[in-house]
Amino acid sequence: MRQKLVVGNWKLHGGLLENQGLLNRLKQELHDLQGMDAAVCLPYVYLFQAQALLQDSAIAWGAQNVSQYTEGAFTSCISAKMVAEFGCTYTIIGHSERRALKLESNQVATKRMLNALHAGLTPIFCVGETLDERDGDMAELIVRNQMLNVVYGLDDEAFALAKKFNMVIAYEPVWAIGTGEHASPDQAQRMHAFIRMMIAERDREFADQIRIVYGGSMTPQNAHSLLSMPDIDGGLLGRAALVAEDFIEICKIA
Ligand code: PGA
Repeated sequence: MRQKLVVGNWKLHGGLLENQGLLNRLKQELHDLQGMDAAVCLPYVYLFQAQALLQDSAIAWGAQNVSQYTEGAFTSCISAKMVAEFGCTYTIIGHSERRALKLESNQVATKRMLNALHAGLTPIFCVGETLDERDGDMAELIVRNQMLNVVYGLDDEAFALAKKFNMVIAYEPVWAIGTGEHASPDQAQRMHAFIRMMIAERDREFADQIRIVYGGSMTPQNAHSLLSMPDIDGGLLGRAALVAEDFIEICKIA
């Protein structure tokens, strides 16, 4: 039985004062979380604050990316090891907003994922197709290509780390992100089952165990129908993560 996971992706939002209010509220209202996991992924500069406020809470925290480099002359980069020092459990990798404009290729996303795993972080590896790709009947092909990095791009040692640190996959159809138009539970379920089947090509046992969360306009209104599908193991929330009531409600639904 996979435990549901709800993760907030704060993107480029936050401020010391607002964060304090939001994090304290989540901490209070989600103090007796049982049978599910909740986390927030914040901008790097707030990781210290998250660690201070959440360390004695039921809520985990994480980053929204890590560098493909580990150390050296790479101005402005933040390594997985640095992020791990702030008590992070998770890091998002390969979000479509990073992949857009070719900021991040599949190869770069894979390097970041490897660095995250070697630093002991749980990567939340994002995959998903654009609207044109879905309309062109290419959604599965695109997701398959992105997933190849996980299924065949990790050597045995890295794959063992992925299992050890409970790597997460996030299916986020690009057309559903920030648009208010979510994938239907059936559409999402089909893709989640497809992703699980791909993982089973490499490791059947891990395929049963890995959490595949859905992201893209998840709200308290649609969370129940999405989260009740057999292969949807949680949510990656953008806007809903910034509104305390919405985040709390979705955690309770999960
Ligand atoms: P959204 O964002 O919930 O605002 O659609 C999801 C995401 O980008 O992770």
